[in-house]
Formats: sequence, structure tokens, C-alpha cells
Amino acid sequence: MPLLQCGNWVLEGRSSSAVATYIRIKELDLIFDLGRCPIHFIGTNHVFISHFHLDHYFGLPIYISQRWLAGIPPGNIFVPLSGFKQLKNILDKISALDGGRNWGYQLTPVEAGDSISFRQNLIAHILPGNHSVPAVSYLICEVRKKLKPEYHDLSSREIVALKRSGVEITYEVQLPLVAYLGDTHGITLDAHPLLTQCKLLICECTFITPEHRERAKKTKHLHLEMLPSLLEHFESECIVLHHFSRRYTHELIQQEVFKRLPTSEHSRVRLFL
Ligand SMILES: [Zn+2]
Ligand SMILES: [Zn+2]
Repeated sequence: MPLLQCGNWVLEGRSSSAVATYIRIKELDLIFDLGRCPIHFIGTNHVFISHFHLDHYFGLPIYISQRWLAGIPPGNIFVPLSGFKQLKNILDKISALDGGRNWGYQLTPVEAGDSISFRQNLIAHILPGNHSVPAVSYLICEVRKKLKPEYHDLSSREIVALKRSGVEITYEVQLPLVAYLGDTHGITLDAHPLLTQCKLLICECTFITPEHRERAKKTKHLHLEMLPSLLEHFESECIVLHHFSRRYTHELIQQEVFKRLPTSEHSRVRLFL
């Protein structure tokens, strides 16, 4: 299974257009999309689904049932609101078919504009997608508490005393960690003020050759030619391209991506093949 080191994080999984997309970042205890579910993914507690094309959520019944069988409490699964009820219905039917078992699962509908806190210090901002079916993208931020500037000169004893007296001495800041773009024909750069500052951008790049320009437009995917003008807005240390069409060999992808992206981008762009 492909592994890609990006700073402190390891991306693990697979992404091939129309086959399956599932990317885990174990250090953040999350999975983006779940087109299949490798058995060792079941211990990961948060799953963010971008849209309801089968190759992006087909692994959910395995994830849910295997956790149930292993006695692990239900994971937190976030899905676009548009298909939430249908998915719930399907999962209940599969569960009933599977010997009438009553799998426990935790499904949360999301839509663009929502923000969801998870783990102790992480927050997922839901961003709009632009795909052939309703889709969302995700921006994961870390929430940190910082001491208010007016208290910087106080001693630690004074700070503790203030805190005990009930004074709010800190404020919250958010650090944008990872943005995951599900299938989309474009990026709304102002969808969130922190989006372009994310450390890691996971960006789809389904089509790469000139003859597939129209196909990218029609099926609402990103084409490699669209990337230079988009990526230049991102301050990200690492940009991972994924979801390539299986029409292309790995060699062709490698060759085309680095031929068509400006050399200034080469050091931060990685391919998830
Ligand atoms: Zn897809
Ligand atoms: Zn799709």
C-alpha cells in the first residue's frame, strides 16, 4: 500500500479515479474518503467522506461492521448532507441482511459552512466542492490556546492566580494543517480564510493530457493544466496530487506533472500513486 511522508505525517492508502480513494493520516486519527477499507484502518476514529460516488464510500460497511465485530466503539463518520438519509438506509439494510445484526455507527451529516470539533484540539471546516454530484472538501485545523498579550509580562504565579479567579487569560488560534479536496472542478480559494495557508494540500488531479481537457470539464474534475494558477495561491509546504485517471501509467503521470508544473513547484509537489 502506498505510503507518502509529508512532514510529520504519513499518508497511507490508495487513490485511483473510479477505482477507489481512501487516504489515512494516522497521526491525526482520520481517513479522507473510504472507497475500500483495509482491515488495519478500522482502528482510526474519524472518517470524512467527500461525496457519494461509490469509489469514495464503498468501504463504509466494512469499517462499521469490523469495528462492531471487534468490539470497538463506533467511529465518527462525516458525510455530505445530500445523501445522508439514503446512506443510513443502505447501511441499515446491509446490517439487517447480515444476520439481523444491529451495527452501531455514528453518522454525521455535514454541509459547506459547517465547522466540527473532533479529538481534543482539531476542527474540520467543511468547504464547498464543485463536482457532478454534491460534494464537499475539508480543511482540518488545530486549535491552540495562547496567552492574551496583556498578560505576557506577568509571572507564572500571577497567571495562575488570575486563572483561579476566573479571568479568561487565553484566546484561541487555529493553525490550518491539512486541506483535502475531494473530486472537484476548481478550488474556491476564499471558501475559508485559512485555506491557502494549510501545511499540506491534498488535491485531486484526475486528468493530465491535453486531449482530456473537455472530459475534465464534463465530469467536473481538475485537469493538470488548471493547477499552476491555483497552486500559486497556496503557502503549503507539501502538495499531494491524487486521484489520477487509470488511463495513465505512473511513468506518464510523473513525466507530465513535472513537465507542466513550474519548476518552482517541484520541490513541494508529491504524487500519491
Ligand atoms: Zn472520484
Ligand atoms: Zn466523484
